[in-house]
Amino acid sequence: MDIFAKCHAPAIVYEAKEKGIYPYFHYLTTKQDTQVMMEGRDTVMIGSNNYLGLTSDPRVINAGIEAFKKYGSGCSGSRFLNGTLDIHIALEKELAAFLQKEDVVTFSTGFQSNLGIISAIVGFNDYVICDKENHASIYDGVKLSYGRLVRYEHADMKDLEDKISKLDLSKVGALIITDGVFSMGGDIANLPEIVRIARKYGARVMVDDAHGLGVIGEHGRGTAEYWHLEDEVDIIMGTFSKSLASLGGYMAASKEVCDYVRHASRPFIFSASITPACVACARESLRIIQEEPERRKNLHDISEYMRKQLKANGVDIVESETPIVPIYVYDDLKAFEACKLLFERGVYVNPVVSPATPVGKALLRTSYTATHTKKQIDYAVEQIVAVLKELEVING
Ligand code: PMP
Repeated sequence: MDIFAKCHAPAIVYEAKEKGIYPYFHYLTTKQDTQVMMEGRDTVMIGSNNYLGLTSDPRVINAGIEAFKKYGSGCSGSRFLNGTLDIHIALEKELAAFLQKEDVVTFSTGFQSNLGIISAIVGFNDYVICDKENHASIYDGVKLSYGRLVRYEHADMKDLEDKISKLDLSKVGALIITDGVFSMGGDIANLPEIVRIARKYGARVMVDDAHGLGVIGEHGRGTAEYWHLEDEVDIIMGTFSKSLASLGGYMAASKEVCDYVRHASRPFIFSASITPACVACARESLRIIQEEPERRKNLHDISEYMRKQLKANGVDIVESETPIVPIYVYDDLKAFEACKLLFERGVYVNPVVSPATPVGKALLRTSYTATHTKKQIDYAVEQIVAVLKELEVING
């Protein structure tokens, strides 16, 4: 059998292309910002993870340029060997201090962080207990480990306890992993319950805070800070590609666990280190996050305003307290159509369709930035409402 026999895209891709509503791979010709040029069209961006608006901040860009000049374009090797710069070490120290953990290990991307952390920590036959809506990189990390996967229904603490209580943990370990802020629904994990259950059954807790860092918690330290449980979360993982306006990822944990991962994690050891410019941009963003808490406040105000405006116009949204505001469109192809109509009117949003959502629960994932103007978001609401009426998702 030809190994390429399976190489065709899902049917919906062909259908969407035929109908001219294929929503993926649109290109930008400007910086990632609240207003972008997308394929020649002036567009309000409400589909990025640039939560604090730092990807276009001149201080962040300048930090990158200076690092480029001083350290060159790349490190040409792994952190383990020739690829460590003084600024990698500085970034890890600064992040550890910010997150109030003993130590931090950085990886080349957020995705790679999950691969690298989970495959190192989870040994043969250990259990990994995952929320069903955890990010794909967590599931791929589990695949790369030699552990056993147990999934609980999304945010269902009773199901988590039922499942963990049935495991024999006398000879193997268990790691409960949850997104801190769920990337599609925008809801916040119930860490008090997760921590309680973990302690009761002797499991450890890891939180993927890709969407929490810089966004929630009094000082922007994320989901553990939001719940005042920073000491109880054993591993905090995150990424530099969202609030920190760069590329890379990290784990924050005890010195012992970080040191173990540094010497056991293949995605850490056998991959080149983060580029100098990316390190510098992440450091500068981290500094700004701490010095400009008003960004976080703006972000929450804007997201809250959007929720109110959408609901007032009869739009069905998924409730949350985060800058992720998902809108129900229900039907997959209608979600694609809505994206296309919005794109034509200069608003970019992301479609979320099955299998990422249950069938019949397709969404438009909208997400906001601290630097969105009122004019931009009012325009976005107006267009979303008009398009949903046109598609008869809401009453006209
Ligand atoms: N975890 C979560 C929850 C994410 O949403 C993402 C990216 N969308 C990642 C990990 C991977 O991060 P990165 O894009 O930096 O590789």
